[in-house]
Amino acid sequence: MATSIWFEHDGALTPQALAAPRWLAAGGRLLDEPGFDTLLIAPVRRYEGAVAALLVPDDLRGRVVHNGMPAEGGLLPLRHADHVQIDDWSIWTAGEFIPEETAYSPTTHDQEARCFITKARLRDGELITICPGQAGKPCGMVYKRAAWTTVVAAAAKFRCPNCGYDPKAGVWSPTPATPRPTLDHVFELLKLEPSR
Ligand SMILES: [Zn+2]
Repeated sequence: MATSIWFEHDGALTPQALAAPRWLAAGGRLLDEPGFDTLLIAPVRRYEGAVAALLVPDDLRGRVVHNGMPAEGGLLPLRHADHVQIDDWSIWTAGEFIPEETAYSPTTHDQEARCFITKARLRDGELITICPGQAGKPCGMVYKRAAWTTVVAAAAKFRCPNCGYDPKAGVWSPTPATPRPTLDHVFELLKLEPSR
């Protein structure tokens, strides 16, 4: 699963890949070196649902808001679809839930692994597909590649029976919360009230 971060630029949401540790600067830009008020952000191989880790320096404590809650200083695990706000800009982290395609090896995968669909024991070197899971539901179920491709093609509504992952779901993108009404909005509304 690849980690990316989304940021707002000129009113549009743009993803950028996060393949190595980078420094996060104002506006959601990624820098190769630390700068003024930067935070270290690093992709993590999915661990406990986290897709990235954010290091909040002590001097930025109180300015970082994670999913609507003020963040403590230190290391912050970021999950898929997490929202981080710093001052007046923000980012979203995303893990692209893409099945891993690889060859089965009893040394790296579960020795007793069986295909989740056919229940057949897997042979060394056999092509397999590993279910990526979905937000909040890590999976990792192993399928024979051929079995996976066949059911995905044959059943439009196929979902991984273990986690509910939908192989035909589109790429995720954040939906920014509707901005809170400002005083101007309130005055606009008051003007629309019929006078009595
Ligand atoms: Zn699954």
